[in-house]
Amino acid sequence: MKFGGTSVADIDRIRHVATLVKREVERGNKVAVVVSAMAGETNKLVAWTNDAARPDAAGLAALPDQREYDVVVAAGEQVTAGLLAITLNAMGIKARSWLGWQVPINTSAVHGSARIEGVPATDMQAAIENGEVAVVAGFQGVAPGTRISTLGRGGSDTSAVAVAAGISAARCDIYTDVDGVYTTDPRIVPKARRLEKIAFEEMLEMASLGAKVLQTRSVEIAMLHRVPTRVLSTFTPDVGGTLLCDEEDIVEKKPVTGIAYSRDEAKITLHKVPDKPGVASAIFGPLADAGVNVDMIVQNVSEDGKTTDLTFTCTRGELNRALAAIEAQSKAIGYRDVTHTADVAKVSIIGIGMRAHPGVAQTMFRTLSDKGINIQVISTSEIKVSVLIAEEYVELAVRALHSAYELDAA
Ligand code: ASP
Ligand code: MG
Repeated sequence: MKFGGTSVADIDRIRHVATLVKREVERGNKVAVVVSAMAGETNKLVAWTNDAARPDAAGLAALPDQREYDVVVAAGEQVTAGLLAITLNAMGIKARSWLGWQVPINTSAVHGSARIEGVPATDMQAAIENGEVAVVAGFQGVAPGTRISTLGRGGSDTSAVAVAAGISAARCDIYTDVDGVYTTDPRIVPKARRLEKIAFEEMLEMASLGAKVLQTRSVEIAMLHRVPTRVLSTFTPDVGGTLLCDEEDIVEKKPVTGIAYSRDEAKITLHKVPDKPGVASAIFGPLADAGVNVDMIVQNVSEDGKTTDLTFTCTRGELNRALAAIEAQSKAIGYRDVTHTADVAKVSIIGIGMRAHPGVAQTMFRTLSDKGINIQVISTSEIKVSVLIAEEYVELAVRALHSAYELDAA
């Protein structure tokens, strides 16, 4: 069982969570629970690390040492793990807390966005077999050399699925503040529908393209280890829910299953870079070294045969690091100037049905053009099409596309 930040937002809610855990135990199940920090807590901790790093803020924002950043931001989950264990024990359910290093949840050394590499969990498994509920602090792990690591924002989903895989759990139930995965964000499109089932692959795209319901890496692990994973509501646990499953288990395959969007986008354009072999490598090499995850890329045709413009996107959080990496290599790359903006957003349509239906992308382009929305960058894969547009049009675009692909609830 995994409970997100809103589910453990205060002591009353932690008590409610404890009753849900108790119910599982009373059904005869052995349980590991993974918890997030109380809602808002991680944001607060992150802000403190920025404040502490501020003094030299001439131009680029200062970057704190990521290892110490992890020490700070991992603290929120320690609190809720302890509080839930206390509450369960008070209810007569034997429980203990497990921090990332105690399980252990072994991760890579990429602090701030570490990847889980293994969850040996032998002591914890023994405790669970003994009838004790294991309350695991989500989001955190231990990097080689015993330093605390964190898994990136929303990482406790990943902790949950990895722990489920590690202890060969029969099921991983992700309890959250919505009762499942929707065709799109219901706050933007009130007619969004809950999906009974979604294929792992689709969920992977939905998550990585901005749907906030599950962290992307958690879906990767669920898919890899075939962990039967459900998303359900803490507040109405007995209704609804969405099951992540294999593609073969989905009968009706519409061309588009869902629409995701992400405002966490920034666009950088290098003007007048030499149009010759090695330039893309000169640009993207240093970005990779700086840990910037480049997403969409367009290189324009060369008008004069000598130079071209190259545009790429990354997350807003990585914008400063990306600019610094590019500027440090300005000689080697040889561009004229760099422009950037964070006033962009990415809207994506996703569906395994796309493979079998032609013309799916065209419907997207026509729908956006009918609304007068300009497309700045396009990228596609077998089961998704993404476009970069001005941020101010996100809601309009998502609503129009939701209707165009007949996803609106009746
Ligand atoms: N507390 C962390 C965050 O806010 C991890 C999580 O909630 O999944 O990102
Ligand atoms: Mg979450």
